[in-house]
Amino acid sequence: MTARNFSFEFSAPKSADASEKLFKTHDRLKRFDPEFFSVTYGAGGSTRDGTRDAVLKLNSLGSNVAPHLSFGGESPEKIEQLLLDYQCTGINRVVALRGDIPSGNMNTMTYANELVTFIRAKTGNHFHIEVAAYPEVHPESTSVESDLHFFKKKVDAGADSAITQYFYNADAYFRYLDACSKTGITIPIVPGVMPITNYHGIVRFSKICGAEIPRWILQYLESYQNDPESLRKFGLEVVSDMCARLLTGGAPGLHFYTLNQSLPTIRIWQNLGLD
Ligand code: FAD
Repeated sequence: MTARNFSFEFSAPKSADASEKLFKTHDRLKRFDPEFFSVTYGAGGSTRDGTRDAVLKLNSLGSNVAPHLSFGGESPEKIEQLLLDYQCTGINRVVALRGDIPSGNMNTMTYANELVTFIRAKTGNHFHIEVAAYPEVHPESTSVESDLHFFKKKVDAGADSAITQYFYNADAYFRYLDACSKTGITIPIVPGVMPITNYHGIVRFSKICGAEIPRWILQYLESYQNDPESLRKFGLEVVSDMCARLLTGGAPGLHFYTLNQSLPTIRIWQNLGLD
């Protein structure tokens, strides 16, 4: 199995302890030499400084790093300044998003295609722009067609590649690739991989972000919910098998949602024989 574009995502730290954990995790994962690490941007820009500080430090440690970015409630001038700060320090990849909607703040969201257009207008072709894609359809989309239509708008605005929302059904991903190709979308679409380590966390978050946990997986997770070791073992097998299938089927790489933990990603990596 040949290695392709692998990347590791960190959640932006919100405290000194969380920051320390992120850098420890980075220390353990950097030997896998990923294409890049990315750092999330909290809903509405709530982690703007935390994201920027983590990104600049990872960059100074010699890793390729891609900040996530969304307009949130910020002025265009502030977002432009952030982009220029990144550009000056040699960062050349960003993940452009609409972002999650902070509670009670529906009015200030700017769609991701507008951010892609903004980045291209302000910084030309400096950045490789990643955008989000949804093999199981974004939860706010009214139809498959509208989801694809708005995905294509991001590509037409200048996105270079995409990372998917996580899923546990490889068929959804392959069908999505077919649908994208028929819509004229030809950029690489890298599957996002969420390791399964915790019953309540994965069930709650999957409901929010519209990721389906297939019934049979859910049944096993339920039966292991008070047996963390069996749950982790089962989750590792299921996710590793799916990743192997994705790579064999032609996925251009994998993007791991690490949640700032190294072990679940390392175990999947080893199961795939990528070590
Ligand atoms: P968009 O592409 O703007 O789409 C949002 C919805 O609006 C979709 O239903 C789309 O079909 C529709 N739409 C798009 N354009 C238009 C338009 N012009 N008119 C009408 N409808 C439109 N969230 C964070 O807050 N911080 C992060 O760091 C973060 N990182 C992520 C990383 C990845 C790889 C992924 C997959 C998601 C991430 N998210 C993050 C979550 C993401 O912000 C949410 O899924 C959000 O709801 C949508 O973001 P988007 O960029 O896909 O939005």
